[in-house]
Amino acid sequence: MKQTMQALQMRGPDTLVKTEMPIPVPGAGEVLIQTLATTICTSDLHDLKSNPFGIIYPRVLGHEAAGIIVAAGEDVRNVALGARVAVHPVVPCGNCNECKRGLSNICSNMGHLGYDRDGSFAEYFTQRADRVTALPLRISNATGALLEPVAVCLQAIARAGDIRGRTVLVAGDGPFGNIIARLAKRAGAARVMVTGRVPFRLQSIPGVEIPDADPVRCADVAILAVSSPDAVATCMKALRPRGRLVVFSALKEPVAIDLFTLHLAELEIAGACNDEDRIEEALECLQDETLNLASLITHQVHFQNWEEAFSLVRYKQDKTLKVAITFN
Ligand SMILES: [Zn+2]
Ligand SMILES: [Zn+2]
Repeated sequence: MKQTMQALQMRGPDTLVKTEMPIPVPGAGEVLIQTLATTICTSDLHDLKSNPFGIIYPRVLGHEAAGIIVAAGEDVRNVALGARVAVHPVVPCGNCNECKRGLSNICSNMGHLGYDRDGSFAEYFTQRADRVTALPLRISNATGALLEPVAVCLQAIARAGDIRGRTVLVAGDGPFGNIIARLAKRAGAARVMVTGRVPFRLQSIPGVEIPDADPVRCADVAILAVSSPDAVATCMKALRPRGRLVVFSALKEPVAIDLFTLHLAELEIAGACNDEDRIEEALECLQDETLNLASLITHQVHFQNWEEAFSLVRYKQDKTLKVAITFN
């Protein structure tokens, strides 16, 4: 096997560089994965622009991926070399209070692919063996890379509570808003409304309502799927009494919330971060033809043309939702 690989390294604000570097060696409990496809996440753009999570430079970004296991470190059992897998980027410690409470998604010593360890915008990367899962044949490489985006959207639905027969507003028409809206229908919501700014994106979500004006006091649940303070206000205004806001998207700066209305109408606010091991359900969703999550992948661009892939996501050109970087 060759010793070096090509990788996209973040070296500073707005500085992503293709570089030649050694192929990583899997440590104990880890596997080495040859990347087949990796999708670009909105958070990759935020990391590049303002590095909200304080990633230490240099770092290979990328955390949504599918690939082939080509090597394993010590103490790795139950994985087959040559297996095609999807990767979950979150690496919970297993020992902290949150992990012991069963809340490994909010582990206080969490590792994360592309944050504290080199990620999947590379020909090879390593990940802890228990965070990869075999991909059924009918899921393509690019669609397989959506495992974690779908799992985190399932967490948002779970945090919304029982939405069967209910009215749900999803604020945000990006890939996450799109997936959440589809999953809300799947979970039995009677009505799903989506607000956003891009007609192509809104129209690409089947079976949802696109309100002309901000909805007022009609939603049982509002899910924030865009990092915008204005969208928080839209969500709060949309909730009917006893409604619940689910904060899925990250907003770094504090946002003003009308607690008087929250008090009077007994509203609730819940966070949704990562997912409580919803990998199996995410795999089911990826195979569900009614959900058609494969349609989220609007573009596949070869790794050689990575700059084109990023500009597609950045400037939302050519009717873009999810852009997959492919390696074969
Ligand atoms: Zn992501
Ligand atoms: Zn932990």
